[in-house]
Amino acid sequence: MSKATKHPANLKPETAVLTRGFDPSLSVGSARPAVFRSSTYVFSSPEAAERAFDIMGGRAQRTPGENVDLVYSRFNHPNAQILEDQIIPLEPGTTVATVFNSGMAAIMTALLAVLKPGDSIIYTVPIYGGTQTLIQGFLEPFGIQGIAVPGGRSDLLDQAIRSAKNLGVVLIETPANPTIVMTDIQRACQTVAGLPTGSNGGSAPQRPLVMIDNTFLGPAFQHPLALGADLSIYSATKYLGGFSDIIGGVCLGKDAALMQKIRSKRSLFGNILQPDECWILNSRLPTVYLRMNRQSENAKRTAESLVGHPKISKIYYPTLFSDPEQKRIYENQCSEPGGLVSIDLKGGKAAAFDFLRHLQIARDAVSLGGVETLACHPRSTTHSAWSAKDLDEAGIGDGLVRISFGIEDFSDLLSDFEQALEQE
Ligand SMILES: *Cc1c(COP(=O)(O)O)cnc(C)c1O
Repeated sequence: MSKATKHPANLKPETAVLTRGFDPSLSVGSARPAVFRSSTYVFSSPEAAERAFDIMGGRAQRTPGENVDLVYSRFNHPNAQILEDQIIPLEPGTTVATVFNSGMAAIMTALLAVLKPGDSIIYTVPIYGGTQTLIQGFLEPFGIQGIAVPGGRSDLLDQAIRSAKNLGVVLIETPANPTIVMTDIQRACQTVAGLPTGSNGGSAPQRPLVMIDNTFLGPAFQHPLALGADLSIYSATKYLGGFSDIIGGVCLGKDAALMQKIRSKRSLFGNILQPDECWILNSRLPTVYLRMNRQSENAKRTAESLVGHPKISKIYYPTLFSDPEQKRIYENQCSEPGGLVSIDLKGGKAAAFDFLRHLQIARDAVSLGGVETLACHPRSTTHSAWSAKDLDEAGIGDGLVRISFGIEDFSDLLSDFEQALEQE
């Protein structure tokens, strides 16, 4: 719906998100888009219907500027088109976007669009639990080999990329949850680009794709496509949605043919984001940088204020990294440290539970990225399926609490954490 909308070139993301993608004349002049809840669309002519099906079926290519009739809302609908067009400027390097009804739907659909039995996928760990189950519990029995590499270990990641057979995808989640370990995106992209052609075997003739789960620091503070990645994937449920009231996912890229493959799988699976949800998410885009900057500022001030607190053994936060390699990655890859902080309490699980019980502003809940501050105990919740050995190795201790900062007043939050720390 952007064709009729004229806007100057080279606008900054904060401006472009408000000026592109929506033509009021197509919504009877309303300043905000209408919600188009129709499941089907009336064709302008039988010829236009035939043309739309030819393009959808890959038998014809859309010519530049061509207006193709909409068909059916499992394939596409105006609110998805508006959202997909408006989100593009927020992630530098993006030319195409596709929206899904959850972050997991975005990850699953992108992977299934490019992987087939006999291929392999490299992924960093820790990784989001759903993604781990998708790879280990679904893709592996389906004949796709999963190769786990610890986050932050570029040497091991390079080795895995060079030695994997039929490598189809390198999937990196950075920073990793909940210990904020960072993986070097640019180096992984360079290693993939340096693979000799055909090295990944006959069944995957193209170079492997690098996909980044950018949920934690994007789109404000980390830009994977600009660093060389092929796809940047989001759980829009988190910072993009921003109010803990919507489930959604987005896949952003720069290769129209690749995105077309992903879209055709979305049409098949039926996991497009519904019109009402698109409209809601649309209204959140213009404030995502504002919210994330405030959340990051709150997190940074609190984390730095709590350094040396007698009840805390360690604080996991980018500006407090001590490992030189982690510091280097953070400085090269991210513009701000972000809104997630993990603190390890000296008193272990009992202290962590007491802390959560006594919080008066922050609420004890999983998920993140909302305007309200949330805290949780990963070892007994989000990471409870892990073995004790894996948890210990990843630094997810009994006393670890992860905090997702909201936009409240910083001094109120700090006082709340301080009083909760005293309540043992
Ligand atoms: C929440 C999350 C997901 C899954 O997203 P849903 O919207 O819940 O499906 C994937 N990756 C990361 C990093 C997440 O935090």
